[in-house]
Amino acid sequence: MTGIVVLGSTNMDLVAYVARAPKHGETVTGREFRTIPGGKGANQAVAAARAGGDVAMIGAVGADEFGVRLRHTLTSSGVDTDLLHTAEGPSGTAHIVVDDEGGNAIVVVPGANGTLTALGPGEETLISTAASLLLQLELPLSAVLDGARAAKRHGVRTILTPAPVQPLPPELLTATDLLVPNEHEAAALAGVADPHAAAEVLLRQVPEVVITLGAAGCLYAARGAEPVTVPAPKVTAVDTTGAGDTFVGALAVAIGEGRPMDAATRWASAAAALCVQRHGASTSMPYRPEIDEAAS
Ligand code: ATP
Repeated sequence: MTGIVVLGSTNMDLVAYVARAPKHGETVTGREFRTIPGGKGANQAVAAARAGGDVAMIGAVGADEFGVRLRHTLTSSGVDTDLLHTAEGPSGTAHIVVDDEGGNAIVVVPGANGTLTALGPGEETLISTAASLLLQLELPLSAVLDGARAAKRHGVRTILTPAPVQPLPPELLTATDLLVPNEHEAAALAGVADPHAAAEVLLRQVPEVVITLGAAGCLYAARGAEPVTVPAPKVTAVDTTGAGDTFVGALAVAIGEGRPMDAATRWASAAAALCVQRHGASTSMPYRPEIDEAAS
């Protein structure tokens, strides 16, 4: 049992593939359209469950067909969705235009995610049973703070992905045990671009940081210890969507199993490297036997 609770978003990604994105007031004809289950919370939950974690998700889907599919994506990967609420109104959606250069423009409509403004006793009880609580910033901040407070009351480890990046309330940072930004988020939060320098600034606020560095791997830093760079496996990336969430989900599983951070970050890097070699987000997340094989 690795007891992971994810408090986070579910979104249906509505993706139009076009040669070039339309300018203001213009209409262009797209080549292809796909609906892909996503949301950082749901992605991390799927990644952790496939990596072998015992995972429950707190969040909200809408009372629509997207909601049914979003829930099914979680349950079919083994995530407990008893506290994934069905809110009145639409599910969260991300409207994405991807052009031939690989560039994208995205509008996120929170939908049901925006209805989760506070946690109740049921959510607190679930969090109290966990070893780790995974948080991101795609739900109302009031709910994220409620979750972090509940975790601290019950001695549960908190792992925060600060995305979409925004100024963080001091109370949230105080309640964070491990912060996992990518290098852009780390630079924005720390006010300095170099990852080593950013880690040093962030360690004044949280005890442990893992900064993900794309193909360059990640940087692990903890108070009172030398930072360690963990290289990523050399692979041919075809689609990096969901790599960050795969990394965090697998990392939470490895930490929950008591692995030291150097081993845990290597194992998470193996999982994320498998993800980038396939198309999609949740669809490309690896299962435990593949991760173990890749990491061996
Ligand atoms: P995304 O938004 O694409 O999900 P991110 O910006 O949150 O990702 P990244 O730092 O780009 O986070 O990637 C997360 C992790 O995924 C990296 O630390 C690394 O382990 C792995 N990864 C990403 N790109 C590659 C790659 N090209 N080759 C191998 N591993 C990669």
